[in-house]
Amino acid sequence: RKGNVIITGASSGLGLATAKALAETGKWHVIMGCRDFLKAERAAKSVGMSKENYTIMHLDLASLDSVRQFVDNFERSGMPLDVLVCNAAVYLPTAKEPTFTAEGFELSVGTNHLGHFLLSRLLLDDMKKSDYPSKRLIIVGSITGNTNTLAGNVPPKANLGDLRGLSGGLNGLNSSTMIDGGDFDGAKAYKDSKVCNMLTMQEFHRRYHEETGIAFASLYPGCIATTGLFREHIPLFRLLFPPFQKYITKGFVSEEEAGKRLAQVVSNPSLTKSGVYWSWNKESASFENKLSQEASDAEKARKVWEISEKLVGLA
Ligand code: NDP
Repeated sequence: RKGNVIITGASSGLGLATAKALAETGKWHVIMGCRDFLKAERAAKSVGMSKENYTIMHLDLASLDSVRQFVDNFERSGMPLDVLVCNAAVYLPTAKEPTFTAEGFELSVGTNHLGHFLLSRLLLDDMKKSDYPSKRLIIVGSITGNTNTLAGNVPPKANLGDLRGLSGGLNGLNSSTMIDGGDFDGAKAYKDSKVCNMLTMQEFHRRYHEETGIAFASLYPGCIATTGLFREHIPLFRLLFPPFQKYITKGFVSEEEAGKRLAQVVSNPSLTKSGVYWSWNKESASFENKLSQEASDAEKARKVWEISEKLVGLA
């Protein structure tokens, strides 16, 4: 049978390019978990995906009710789940004030981390039931949360501190909106959320790899300077960022190439190792990359996991 893969945020950018790359092989049925049904339908058509290769299901990661509803709908479809790709994200670098999810969590960490945390925890049981030979749970990371790299050292740097803001619920009322308890900074909140994504992947690996055989992985697909992720940035940045990445840092990758990379992590028989953060070199060959100290801190991973369980109502 075909493999079934859920991709969150498949209505644009990396998620859409990955959905297209997998659908084209004829070996995958892609479940596109998207908050805007019409946009997703138009996006799938615009890249030429044929109807039998995908299903769109409504998912708003900024609402835990919506996450639970999505899991119900998916389970009711009767499809087995073989691979889950947590890809969706928001990035609010110019926001002066915080905005919030339905449950009142700061929007970047609420969507990118907490929404995906609940989703992947709930879908783990579905993945356990699947008889697919190579099951994988992939959480898209980023270099920007990784302070052992040049890009990760552009201020404001990711830093989860002692997690006091996360423990308090990131609500801006009786707690800070930032994980480390500091003042709101949209660019930092995004980077912090990506550190949480990479920590979550490793904690999944420690807790569940042996028992389930599922491969847990994260990746940095390269700088895809043209995606919607930068839609909230100032116009001058949006004009200069793609050529800067192309000619100065040379880290630029097209959406198509980045989609092929993520598709490799979904289906390539050589990328089955668990607990790994994949990157690609200049020749576009994959390699196991090192994470920053904070993004590979096992004690912090455990704490983020336990606090997140409480926030999303699993503990
Ligand atoms: P896009 O903005 O193009 O795509 C983000 C996707 O997430 C969109 O489909 C968007 O939906 C969806 N999304 C946002 N909020 C929600 C929500 N509440 N519920 C459901 N879906 C939501 O950005 P990219 O393709 O660049 O980003 C994809 C991933 O790649 C992210 O995890 C990002 O961190 C990562 N990444 C990107 C890099 C880059 O250079 N662009 C570099 C490294 C990592 P909608 O279409 O409705 O807006």
